[in-house]
Amino acid sequence: RELKVDLGERSYPIYIGEGLLQETGVMFLKHGIGTKSPVLLVTDETAGELYLRKVEDALAKSGYRTGSFIVKAGERSKSLSVLEDAVTAALEAGLDRHSAVVALGGGVVGDLAGFVAATYMRGIKFVQIPTTILAHDSSVGGKVAVNHPLAKNIIGAFHQPEFVLYDTATLKTLPEREVRAGLSEVIKHGLIWNAEFVDWCEIHAEKLLSLDPESLEYALYEGCRVKSIVVSQDERENGLRAILNLGHTIGHALEAVAGYGELLHGEAIAIGMVGSARLAAKLGHPEEIHAVTKRIFMKYGLPTSIPSHLDTEAILGAMMHDKKFVEGTMVFIIPTAIGTVEINKNVSTALVREIVEELK
Ligand code: NAD
Ligand code: ZN
Repeated sequence: RELKVDLGERSYPIYIGEGLLQETGVMFLKHGIGTKSPVLLVTDETAGELYLRKVEDALAKSGYRTGSFIVKAGERSKSLSVLEDAVTAALEAGLDRHSAVVALGGGVVGDLAGFVAATYMRGIKFVQIPTTILAHDSSVGGKVAVNHPLAKNIIGAFHQPEFVLYDTATLKTLPEREVRAGLSEVIKHGLIWNAEFVDWCEIHAEKLLSLDPESLEYALYEGCRVKSIVVSQDERENGLRAILNLGHTIGHALEAVAGYGELLHGEAIAIGMVGSARLAAKLGHPEEIHAVTKRIFMKYGLPTSIPSHLDTEAILGAMMHDKKFVEGTMVFIIPTAIGTVEINKNVSTALVREIVEELK
């Protein structure tokens, strides 16, 4: 399947299908990336062990020289010190202005490699080869960043890739928990934009969880499609793009309070989306939204309540440090029906406290 992210002159395609890794070199040529300049492949130990050779071979076959930079798996690799090491690797590999950086891995590698590409010599070409389900989200939209010890994704840029190459065969090696968590973000794209797709996800839960190729390809296609529509309309997050944060205000706070690792991002936002649906009911929107949201996440074996040992005040505190906190009221993405959301800038902290308590 092929899909276009429509950003005028900077539009780019997303290719989704089984076995695409082998086509990496051919795709590079097709997209006009010159063979004279070396390419830097950025990956983590896990994805690298599984797929780096394949990508290197495919690029070599088309006449590209490559260097590689392999980071430890996990969020900690999105740091300034790892960025510096990546630049060292880029310099040692001889990257120049016409070179490309490739992200081969999940969102961590995508965000890090993208930031390397955005900043090396003030910006060079970037290609995304996502290998997790969650990365259907992170590989589209051009947000790239590393973390600061005090805040996630705070040092970043907008840097769109030349193209996204999504080989669904790579997803077969994902741990089951990562599969569920990644699908949480796929379902989010349905909840904000496409009610029919939410139904489809509910019906196809077993197929998706067992990574049935056809269902998976369609789900990733639809997730990427929604993301790309939203991003096309608001590349720099001036308004609409905020709807992609459904479930994230609560979700980010839970991740922070639980300590990164206890809850995966997709798990935290599943709880957050159930919370937003409860908020919706309190704000007068149909009760059904909450019932459907909770039911679907339960079907996917995702958590729908806040682990009881997490402290309510700590969670609220974490939300208030959130960029989205504005003077006593909070900005929340609220579902107004399945498949539609609104940006509500006026949700009182008191109401949020009530929801957090109820979610336990
Ligand atoms: P991740 O990159 O850490 O990958 C999850 C785990 O799966 C890692 O341990 C990784 O080594 C492993 N893995 C990757 N591919 C594999 C494969 N094919 N088989 C087996 N194991 C594999 O995490 P993620 O969930 O993909 O992404 C999370 C990151 O994405 C966060 O840092 C988040 O901030 C970022 N993100 C960015 C955006 C954006 O718009 N830029 C959007 C959403 C999330
Ligand atoms: Zn997310």
